[in-house]
Amino acid sequence: MNWLFNVFNNFLIFIRMIKLLDLLKEISFNTLFSKTPQPYKSRASNISVKLKTIGKNIYFYQTTTKDATENRVHNQVIRPLPKKQAGDAIAKIYPIKNINDDVAVWCDCKDFTFENEYILWKNNASRIVNSNGQPPTIKNPLRLTKLCKHLVAVLPDFKRRIGQSTPAPTPPKPSAPITSDNPKASK
Ligand SMILES: [Zn+2]
Repeated sequence: MNWLFNVFNNFLIFIRMIKLLDLLKEISFNTLFSKTPQPYKSRASNISVKLKTIGKNIYFYQTTTKDATENRVHNQVIRPLPKKQAGDAIAKIYPIKNINDDVAVWCDCKDFTFENEYILWKNNASRIVNSNGQPPTIKNPLRLTKLCKHLVAVLPDFKRRIGQSTPAPTPPKPSAPITSDNPKASK
């Protein structure tokens, strides 16, 4: 019977390892945005965005949705996750410099609470603050990893502040005339 106990024990260890893999997950704001289905992105168009404060590397935003049915103010938070840079013995908090840096996010809206918070928490991209910490069964039963429309709306401002906004395409420069004084222009 001892062998049966060993098999069972190994099985329990295996299950635990699978659960522990959740600890390794991290996700960037950019990836969260790309995973968000288009309808949520479209809904972000009539939201005005204001940066309230940058705490110690933590961005606090306030957004206002303006349309016929809603004129609501919501609050968002984006903060960096600890990471190791060259020479670091342990992971530290660094200011977010890249849209592909891993982050934790939060919003106080209903969509975030009932659709996103649990799933983001499972990706180490949020904490359980608003919700009861149970998986969403009615809203978002497929457990899509996504942002609420407010966090989508914040993205362009956030990118600009960390110096990652996509510059407008520059018109091509008129090509230099090819002359003997300017031999490089022919290359
Ligand atoms: Zn929201």
